[in-house]
Amino acid sequence: MSKVAIIGSGPCGLSILRSFHQAELKGEKIPEITCFDKQSDWGGLWNYSWRTGSDQYGDTVPNSMYRYLWSNGPKECLEFADYTFDEHFGKAIPSFPPREVLYDYILGRAKKSDVKKYIRFDTIVTSVSHNGKEFSIKSKDKKNNSLLNEKFDNVVVATGHFSIPFIPEYEGMKSFPGRILHSHDFRDAEEFRGKNVIVLGSSYSAEDIALQCYKYGASSVTIGYRNNPMGFKWPSGMKEVHYLDRLEGKKAVFKDGHTQDADAIVLCTGYLHHFPFIEDKLKLETNNRLYPPKLYKGVVWQDNHSLFYLGMQDQFHTFNMFDAQAWYVRDLIVNKASLPTDAEISEDISQWMAKEGKLEDPLQMIDFQTEYTKDLCSMVDYPEIDMELIRKHFHDWEHHKEDDILQYRNKSFSSAVTGTVAPLHHTNWLDAMDDSMETFMNTKF
Ligand code: FAD
Ligand code: NAP
Ligand code: MG
Repeated sequence: MSKVAIIGSGPCGLSILRSFHQAELKGEKIPEITCFDKQSDWGGLWNYSWRTGSDQYGDTVPNSMYRYLWSNGPKECLEFADYTFDEHFGKAIPSFPPREVLYDYILGRAKKSDVKKYIRFDTIVTSVSHNGKEFSIKSKDKKNNSLLNEKFDNVVVATGHFSIPFIPEYEGMKSFPGRILHSHDFRDAEEFRGKNVIVLGSSYSAEDIALQCYKYGASSVTIGYRNNPMGFKWPSGMKEVHYLDRLEGKKAVFKDGHTQDADAIVLCTGYLHHFPFIEDKLKLETNNRLYPPKLYKGVVWQDNHSLFYLGMQDQFHTFNMFDAQAWYVRDLIVNKASLPTDAEISEDISQWMAKEGKLEDPLQMIDFQTEYTKDLCSMVDYPEIDMELIRKHFHDWEHHKEDDILQYRNKSFSSAVTGTVAPLHHTNWLDAMDDSMETFMNTKF
């Protein structure tokens, strides 16, 4: 029997475990599976940790999520086609749940598929290499401090790419008298109540962390963008200015001449695709983009067709896209699907990357990723899901954000699997200070 290694038990790792389980239910033969996770539990980033820096074993903490994090897209856009929100919660719930609720949903499906038995927790993969025939994986059991070296026929890298922060330095940082942190280490907006906060960046972390600080009582929030401003209609107390030039003591001086005294600076400057454990010839090297290079259908390593990467794209679509990827990778591993010639693979990758190069705005980016996900869905037996409705939801969501960045999470969307229309939440997001599942669920919608 062939042997498969899956590295990571976050949403992507759980998608491929689920895909094997679904095949097994249909009476298909599945390979011998080993899944490694360096955390002590599953769920990846959704498994919140208060820790920053290192864990108790000296290993870097992967968590980048924070208290009070709510879904930043409608849950209807990420719903699993084979495990609906209605099935999990037994009732309709609002479209933008807090982290704990989505975590519960992810784990609900994982528990139902009985895949925990495959996962070795507290076990970090330290090396992946290929000798022309098979893979060698070195791993370390962190609890027992024991090392293993094992052989595998296929490797699936599902380690995520929002865990290792990209941290730039600006003039004056060394003598800045306040706190400087990256969004990776941001845990609780309450820390910044009454403070003047500077947020650098113009993507989702900058947007959400700036709004969190506003929501939980920062005195002022100044966002410094580098290339393009987000351009939302910020409420009073928030503003968006051009790029930090330098710090002079506690004074931040921006490129457009704007100055602001600051107590804290949050660097929302993104993450690195960082795979120090993978040998160079197998290593994905990319920035955060919709079509990383050298990956056929976004998942098959072009130079070695036994190696797969899941979820390495920049993400509008998430959980059901990860599923579509996982289902396809599974079919390749069990030889239910086959690959075209090397020339065709190369041509296909080039075409997608050329299309990606022409994208001009978020709506076109959404369309691109919807087309990509539809392409994958058309090749596998993933259950029916209305991707056209999801595309429309994402477009509406973009417009809602442009209309009012403080209100977009109060909207309702319909399920692309069941048609269920989400009830409105009892409290506006801006006034909902408690993000616990108990509070969120303990109400009649
Ligand atoms: P992860 O969730 O990062 O899981 C990777 C797993 O691999 C981890 O458990 C880690 O311990 C393990 N691992 C890593 N390296 C090793 C190793 N060497 N050996 C063993 N195990 C290893 N998406 C949404 O859809 N909605 C949201 O609201 C949303 N909010 C987000 C908020 C933040 C702050 C961030 C950073 C991301 C957010 N995302 C959101 C996107 C997120 O990328 C996906 O939802 C999802 O977590 C990606 O799953 P993954 O399995 O690829 O990676
Ligand atoms: P990202 O989307 O990769 O964005 C990185 C940002 O860093 C870009 O705006 C980039 O600006 C900026 N940047 C890079 N280098 C810089 C520098 N030297 N100086 C100033 N700016 C610099 O990363 P992200 O925003 O951290 O988002 C990561 C993921 O987390 C996304 O999937 C997002 O959806 C998710 N997330 C979700 C929530 C939620 O509310 N649920 C909250 C936070 C994050 P340029 O454009 O100028 O290059
Ligand atoms: Mg990255």
